[in-house]
Amino acid sequence: MPPASAIVNDGNVVYDAHTNDVAPSGTELKSALLHRHLQHEPIRVIGASGNHLHLSNGRRIFDSTGGAAVACLGHGNERVKKAIARQMEEVSYCHTLLFTTPAAEGLAQELVSSTNGAMAKAFIVSSGSEAMEAAMKLARQFYLEAIPPQPRRTRFVARKESYHGNTLGALSMSGHVARRALFEPILMDNVSHVSACNAYRGMSNGETIEEYVARLARELDDEFTRLGPDTVCAFVAEPVVGAALGCVPAVQGYFQAMQDVCRKHGALLVLDEVMSGMGRCGTLHAWEQEGIVPDIQTIGKGLGGGYAPVAGILINHRVVDVLGRGTGAFAHGQTYQGHPVSCAAALEVQRIIREERLVDNVRKMGTLLEHGLKQRLADHPNVGDIRGKGLFWGIEFVRDKATKKPFDPRDAIAMGVHEKGIQSPYNISLYPGTGTVDGRMGDHVLLAPAYNITVTDVALIVKLASQVVEDFFAEQK
Ligand code: PLP
Repeated sequence: MPPASAIVNDGNVVYDAHTNDVAPSGTELKSALLHRHLQHEPIRVIGASGNHLHLSNGRRIFDSTGGAAVACLGHGNERVKKAIARQMEEVSYCHTLLFTTPAAEGLAQELVSSTNGAMAKAFIVSSGSEAMEAAMKLARQFYLEAIPPQPRRTRFVARKESYHGNTLGALSMSGHVARRALFEPILMDNVSHVSACNAYRGMSNGETIEEYVARLARELDDEFTRLGPDTVCAFVAEPVVGAALGCVPAVQGYFQAMQDVCRKHGALLVLDEVMSGMGRCGTLHAWEQEGIVPDIQTIGKGLGGGYAPVAGILINHRVVDVLGRGTGAFAHGQTYQGHPVSCAAALEVQRIIREERLVDNVRKMGTLLEHGLKQRLADHPNVGDIRGKGLFWGIEFVRDKATKKPFDPRDAIAMGVHEKGIQSPYNISLYPGTGTVDGRMGDHVLLAPAYNITVTDVALIVKLASQVVEDFFAEQK
């Protein structure tokens, strides 16, 4: 039987995603799945291998973003597939209240060992948002069980222009104005947001990096003071801001200064490495480049590389010791926590990254990618900034290069660039994003290819991505 047709309404035209034929007018959407858009059925992916997604219309797309910085080994890795199948044969599920599995224990051991003694325990969940929820509850429990207990600590300080997830606690931490907007009245009111560290947009003219860092540290310090320093559980930040800003790393010395402020006020430092961690930025943990160790760290996308839904938190000795001397348990549990199949997938992904020294390749290929993108696009009149680390790069688009004025959100520039990319002849996926820039929406695309890409792949990404950007803006004129 031929596949049922997949009718797509992209706002301009109704077409069949299997055949790309325009459908007769009046045709109704047939999918029973609630996609993000009720009126827009995404293009069907019927296969994936290496760096490519195979579409139902026969085209192959170069996945230069690994989804949302997820597929760190590319698609269809044989070792990971076998590990998953083995785990399915052994134990597909057991509840972690009473039981554990070699897969979950092995993954936790692999993760803790990767921190060279900095972290004491790993806690495994299914998504980055869940990891953020767990981190918030753990921070709160830490202060309840501290000696003496500090029950007044109920607040969190996060940053503007950040994204920590879609569940209500994680969204409350997020400073992403557009993603919060609809839900603002039901978000937690115990989270406040200080400025992000964004050299391109945040540094004043003539300000040095040291002065910028000192200014941001003062802002955090003032916020603790305003809230009452003994009321804050933790300061929460992404080492490299992903979806909300488009791969914006902090300037040198920023995280050390932020940790100093946290220590001064006795608050924990929680780093959200869901997007930027597990090798993506050129070290297994992004904090290794900042000269600090967080108290709690969340991890996600690159942990399982998309082979299974898996995320987690890593917890340092100070926090574990307090709970160990207190109730002896983390008061938080979920049905699919430490899921054996997810853990087996993630463990194999992490072993491959370690054994094949893929983080070294991330650094090498990242340098080439940076060089190629900057050489080709840095002077483009609508490219405001190209920034990132490792294999995590963002290109920010501006209406006016001199004033850094962003595009009108109604122009949907980032989505337009993405849509152009997935068309022939380019056939490349660039991850679109809109953040908030000076109170207005800003546009960027992310590049986050697999850690095992080659020099040839990098050259292809640079060529295709640059061509898409150049052609897209040429057609806007
Ligand atoms: N934290 C960061 C930094 C993220 O980028 C994301 C997702 O994009 C999340 C948390 C939430 O992860 P998930 O979508 O797996 O719930």
